Amino acid sequence: MIIRSPLPDLDIPKAWTKSVDILTYLFPDGQPVSDEPVWIDAAKPSNNLSPKELLLWVKRLALGLDRLGIKEGDIVMLYSPNNIFVPVAYLGIVGSCRAFSAANPIYTVAEVTHQLKNTGAVCILAHPSMVENAVAAAKAAGLPKNRIFQFDDKPCQPFAGVKDWRQMMASVQDAEGYQWKKLHGEESVRTVATINYSSGTTGLPKGVCVSHHNLIANVAQTINIRWPKLDFQRGEKPQGERWVGFLPLYHAYGQLYVNLMATKCDIPVYVMQQFVYSDFLQHIQDYKITHLQVAPPIMVMLTKRPETKNYDLSSLKGMLCGAAPLSKELQNHVQRDFNVEVKQGWGMTEVTCGSLLQREASDSGTVGELIANTECKLLDDDGNEVGYDTPGEMYIRAPNVCLGYFKNDAATKDSISPDGWLKTGDVAIVNKQGLFWIVDRKKEASLTRTTMSDLIKVNALQVAPAELEAVLLEHDDIADAAVVGITLHDEEWPRAYVALKDHAKGKLTAKDIQQWMKPKVAKHKQLVGGIAFVDEVPKLASGKIQRKVMREWAKRDAPGI
Ligand code: AMP
Repeated sequence: MIIRSPLPDLDIPKAWTKSVDILTYLFPDGQPVSDEPVWIDAAKPSNNLSPKELLLWVKRLALGLDRLGIKEGDIVMLYSPNNIFVPVAYLGIVGSCRAFSAANPIYTVAEVTHQLKNTGAVCILAHPSMVENAVAAAKAAGLPKNRIFQFDDKPCQPFAGVKDWRQMMASVQDAEGYQWKKLHGEESVRTVATINYSSGTTGLPKGVCVSHHNLIANVAQTINIRWPKLDFQRGEKPQGERWVGFLPLYHAYGQLYVNLMATKCDIPVYVMQQFVYSDFLQHIQDYKITHLQVAPPIMVMLTKRPETKNYDLSSLKGMLCGAAPLSKELQNHVQRDFNVEVKQGWGMTEVTCGSLLQREASDSGTVGELIANTECKLLDDDGNEVGYDTPGEMYIRAPNVCLGYFKNDAATKDSISPDGWLKTGDVAIVNKQGLFWIVDRKKEASLTRTTMSDLIKVNALQVAPAELEAVLLEHDDIADAAVVGITLHDEEWPRAYVALKDHAKGKLTAKDIQQWMKPKVAKHKQLVGGIAFVDEVPKLASGKIQRKVMREWAKRDAPGI
């Protein structure tokens, strides 16, 4: 059974024949560009940008990159925490037909090096606090130092021989005459705009190629379900909303809302450089924030942290929660206590951002309905389509499904069928009204089928077991290792099962390994779920780790941790 979105199709396919690069979509010819602040530094609101200012900076950057010799199709990496200039970097890079790839600002040198080598990025914009790491990573990846620039929302002094990105930009005068390249038809569908990293359903993190058309589709679909009555073609925009921009802007979720939706809708967003819970509450109170985009850990904080009650959060009207499972109890708790509508959405990097969203508030724990132009089928373990009220792995076909994985045809083939179905790794149920519930991640693996998802989500961020296993195997004393998610106190953490080489048995401790891991991977990838020593890591005849056994071990061990 194929389930289709209950919403009428949007005119997205027709738009292919028009000029539809992301900048033309956001700033249509002939429509006024607002000069009211949209991106506002939450810590210092006088530091802000209007769409008019943003567009000028975007042009300055685009022309600067041209002059630097960065070609169309080249990849530019951003390595920075959030600030009001991230949308400038994003749209300057994407809007001039280069691809934007951001590294998590807490990445270690090794992780940035990996992403640099994997993407072949030709330029890095690095926050001053990350310049040293960027220089080390660029050296390891063979990228010359003159292709690294300091990136901040204020001018920076040269540091370690690295110039401010403003020095590479074109002048205001030159930029005013700049016209970005308009993409036509298939060009919009094929031109890669962003390369965010995701492990997908399994394996190592991979670059997800999202096109201009994917971005436009997902913005249009999201706007359509959020504000069905507004006619954006005629320049109508939502009124009165104010957001906080704390979601990381290296992730698809933050990018869709802060870089794209806020631009298309002119919604003021108070950007936080760093998430500090008390600051977040203070900003909601001070700026009378009306709507939030959150992940489940924020919902937990709202209900559990004592300081919540010290702030007046009565301006809040709605919250969207996505990126990881949210229990209906917690959703209802927040709806009740804060008198807001909490709506869930489901998405993954491979669908640009989201594919399911609640239209109406509900207490049922649903993640909502398929957004416009979207089809879904649910398959059981034997690959048969299931009907209503029966769990099955979700496959999605829609204009926001990515092009595939960067330079990884095998992984693309494994995840997207020739007729466009994306395998999500998530198990869902749909009822006759078209409402979905995510009930599991794909967990069954047999000798013949290895379609299970082994993704771990820590604080709503992806952790790929294969990546941590590869790091563990670099240790001279480790013979074999497997990593699995373990649920402790309602949160998931990575846990390792390690087989030591004979000479290290009884000598190397879990603590030693954790210490050794510390500088190698970012904080959310640390083995907080612990390390257990085993004689052997259970493997299939093919050499693949028996993830099912690992999950059983983790379940068995959880009560004792
Ligand atoms: P990412 O690519 O980092 O956005 O991660 C995508 C994965 O997050 C999905 O495949 C799901 O496993 C999980 N996820 C996202 N939204 C939800 C949701 N509303 N409920 C349960 N899991 C979710």
